[in-house]
Amino acid sequence: MPQRFWVETLGCPKNQVDSEKLVGQFVADGLTEAQCPEDADLVVVNTCAFIEPARQESIETILALSDARREGARLVVTGCLAQRYGDELAEALPEIDAVAGFGRVPVMLSPGRGGPSVPPRLGGMDLLDLPRPPARAPWAYVKVAEGCDRRCGFCAIPSFRGPQRSRSIDDIVAEVESLGVREVVLVAQDLASFGRDQGKGERAIVPLVRAVAERVDWVRLLYLYPSELSDELVAAVLDTGVPYFDLSLQHVSAPLLRRMRRWGDAERFVARIAEIRSAEPEAVFRSNFIVGYPGETEEDHDQLLEFLREVRLDWCGFFAYSEEPGTFAETLEPKVPTELVTERLAELSELQDEISRSKRDELVGSTVTALVDGPGRARSHREAPEIDGVIEVPDWVETGSFVEVRITAAVGPDLIGIPTGAAGGLQ
Ligand code: SF4
Repeated sequence: MPQRFWVETLGCPKNQVDSEKLVGQFVADGLTEAQCPEDADLVVVNTCAFIEPARQESIETILALSDARREGARLVVTGCLAQRYGDELAEALPEIDAVAGFGRVPVMLSPGRGGPSVPPRLGGMDLLDLPRPPARAPWAYVKVAEGCDRRCGFCAIPSFRGPQRSRSIDDIVAEVESLGVREVVLVAQDLASFGRDQGKGERAIVPLVRAVAERVDWVRLLYLYPSELSDELVAAVLDTGVPYFDLSLQHVSAPLLRRMRRWGDAERFVARIAEIRSAEPEAVFRSNFIVGYPGETEEDHDQLLEFLREVRLDWCGFFAYSEEPGTFAETLEPKVPTELVTERLAELSELQDEISRSKRDELVGSTVTALVDGPGRARSHREAPEIDGVIEVPDWVETGSFVEVRITAAVGPDLIGIPTGAAGGLQ
């Protein structure tokens, strides 16, 4: 009987792509996917180390799967936590059979080849270019680069993911074609800088977006550093027919952004968003903000509230600042007291929830083009998969089809819709 594996994934979409590539490699090596972790001979936990709660969740998951696995099954930990704290993990959690940093799990872990049992540290190979299994949904993430060349004050990612390494457009296009999906979501740590590490150091995000757009119906971009949002990139995004802009703003106060070692200020962000909206009134905006970065004043916080009221972004994520060992921000003072961070988070979330809700209410009565993700679930250009709300549709609407949907109600972040026909040009 072939060996069975189970891959448990934590963290962001980039990790999800890595896991799919591991699955692709295991299957190519003759393993089969187990129905549940209890049935597997090999249990892999792909961890996240972004901030403290993510690290805790990763450790809890490792321990839970260690308890759940059957006798003799091997437990391997990979991903960011393994990359960043490999030695500490191996020492602190003897239940782990192997700790493997990025791209080091496949091949050497594949049992059933008469090879040795899993070594404590594993040799390397590049996950980025590994094949992946066909997509299980009509959409898929595609990771186009690994690492980051920036040095944002709060972020430890470059210290363990390394400098940016972009894939070739040909490899990415080949992966896109192999997936057989209708929507591709492009991801990287710093997506708009794609290609800067290749050739003459020029960014290649625009030709990439255009090349992918020729192969799938929808292309969506996540994590755009705001200074990289050139006119050409905006035009390329608008031409794809998915006017969705996920801007990684992090804050809007200029002095605080400089302390974060980042670009921009509220005025520039407001102006850019207004320009895009005037070119495309249907444009949708998402952003993330860090709350309680060292030195964040009441004035900085008020400026962020004011910005949110003024620009009315469609979707926002707010994250409490988490001190990461080895970062520039670790050295900064004064720290913002936890109670104050909690208070600011609540205030921001309350305001944004109201804005997001009212923007969803405004859609009632309109008709949108939507991709059906699965029974009863669809999304328009306004909703990124797994991140934003969804559109509830009747179960009988065919998964993978594009339909015109009339929105009849809004329930929090979600919409309820009735299909009125196939979407022109996309069916
Ligand atoms: S752009 Fe900044 S926040 Fe994003 S991965 Fe690079 S250093 Fe970290």
